[in-house]
Amino acid sequence: MNCFICNTEANYYKTVRSLPSFKCPGCGLIWIVATEKDTAFYLSDEYLKADGKAVNEQWGYWDFIADEYIHRKVAGNIFRTVSKFVKLKGLKILELGCCCGFLIDEARKLGNQVQGVEINPKAIKYGREVSGLDINTDFDGTFDIAFLIGVLDHLRNPREMLEKVCKSCDWIVITVTDTAGFLPFYFLKPEHLTYFNHTNLTMLLRGMGFEVVLNRLYFTYYGINEFIYRFSKKLNLPNFSFKVPGNEMILVAKKMQGQRIFEK
Ligand SMILES: [Zn+2]
Repeated sequence: MNCFICNTEANYYKTVRSLPSFKCPGCGLIWIVATEKDTAFYLSDEYLKADGKAVNEQWGYWDFIADEYIHRKVAGNIFRTVSKFVKLKGLKILELGCCCGFLIDEARKLGNQVQGVEINPKAIKYGREVSGLDINTDFDGTFDIAFLIGVLDHLRNPREMLEKVCKSCDWIVITVTDTAGFLPFYFLKPEHLTYFNHTNLTMLLRGMGFEVVLNRLYFTYYGINEFIYRFSKKLNLPNFSFKVPGNEMILVAKKMQGQRIFEK
């Protein structure tokens, strides 16, 4: 099996939760080979609210909707970073894997036209009915910016999705785990199928006509509930979140040719 970034023949790496994984000797990409059946849990209600299962080596979120304030805070944090390059106002914004749409809702408040793509039916329904957002299972048309926040590594075919996004937008913002990051490499919860590093992801984007203008360690927010659960039972705590150093990176990339310029 060849690497989808550098086309080097990859070696079998190890079995991860009964699925085979491969590692590219050329660029270091690691990927787990999964079928549609293996990722069917993305579509379940439990994916959004897995309670304690989410933190015991299982898939899903603790409670995505209950942690709305964290997702909105994360969005604001990402927007501050992106604003150094692009003024987030009056733009057409797309988010892939938008879940309930908290990020695009925040972008809409800033005066942008927003659209989301999501596959989980409960998340789509929530975003549409509660926030009145335009969320669908696919997209067409062109956009100024596409956000892929912690989603690229969840896809069974990230290259295909990224190619489609690159053709449709001028800027891309990606957060994803970096295997060459701050902490030693380890496999995350089962929904993480592809493990990039900052070098091979930059290479992949460059091959699709994008220049990475920012690539750095990304400190995301975690809710206190999920953190405390690691040590004790579920507690009814007030809203509180904190930043935790991890292996996530944030990349901001812009189209190299024929781009419309929205720089400050
Ligand atoms: Zn490779």
